[in-house]
Amino acid sequence: MATAHIASTAVTDTVVSLSEMVQGLYNHRSCCTLLFIARRHKGLIWCFYSEGKNMRAMNPVSERITLRRRIIYKVIRTLPQPIKKLLLFGHRHFCPICQSRIRRFWRFVPHFDTWCPVCGSLERQRLVWIFLQQLTDFLSPRPKKLLHIAPEKALEKRFKQCANVQYLSGDLNPYLRGDLSPAMLRMDITDIRQPHNSFDVIICNHVLMGIPNDRRAMQEFYRILKPGGFAVLTEPITIGKTFEDLTVVSPAERERVFGHHEYVRQYGLDITDRLKEAGFSVRTFEERELVQEDDLLRLGVLQCGFEDTASLSQPLFCCEKRADTYT
Ligand SMILES: [Zn+2]
Repeated sequence: MATAHIASTAVTDTVVSLSEMVQGLYNHRSCCTLLFIARRHKGLIWCFYSEGKNMRAMNPVSERITLRRRIIYKVIRTLPQPIKKLLLFGHRHFCPICQSRIRRFWRFVPHFDTWCPVCGSLERQRLVWIFLQQLTDFLSPRPKKLLHIAPEKALEKRFKQCANVQYLSGDLNPYLRGDLSPAMLRMDITDIRQPHNSFDVIICNHVLMGIPNDRRAMQEFYRILKPGGFAVLTEPITIGKTFEDLTVVSPAERERVFGHHEYVRQYGLDITDRLKEAGFSVRTFEERELVQEDDLLRLGVLQCGFEDTASLSQPLFCCEKRADTYT
């Protein structure tokens, strides 16, 4: 009896350990499958995660975009551009970057209907593109070397289509983040490892307000620009005079004081003083100086989608390095 009992226990143990092994293998396989899916769709998953986090951080509950709508947005965004152009076709709006006629720009944050559903561009990127097309020789056949800081996907794609442009992008965090492309180089803009006088054009949108030593970054832009070159910068102007406090370091406190967890200041129009200190000759362009009144909403270049509630100014700063400069 005892021998039979021992044999029975051994069989049971074997079955249990086999079953655990199979379960373990199954779990391992499930984990591998999940990892495989996560690897294949890490961009999409990251978008979901980061967008959800941003929405929760930036939007009051009543203004949150519903999960269902976000999923629809995400699915549409993964479609090829020609299909998106067809699906979203309309006569009311036009995106100058992807040349799409669309029914409306999508909501980016509450009250800000500025997001092109076809190429993902925002109002500031469209303004920069219009400026480059209309008021510079950017599209002339003369070869140009361009440095794009914190590269936005929509602009990056457009720049790469320009046969005369030698394109380089840089970012302190050169990985895929939301609507930013992975940058080609890891780059600290307060210490740019590029030779003097090496770029014709620099594009930098909404970056300087998160840089503690922004004056140093402006000096670096000036140093690497060729004489006669120019930098196009956009920063939101939210107050009369620039306010900064470098002692505020925690993301939550920065969110409270500056409106964003990565910002260290809010700029006023006196940002031009800092740019001039770096050596630039600065010209400021408001949206209405670049786009006719009738087209402001059609092209979605106002930071606020509703003209009557527009409260923020988002001028474009063209910072030129004089052609007779020697550095
Ligand atoms: Zn577009």
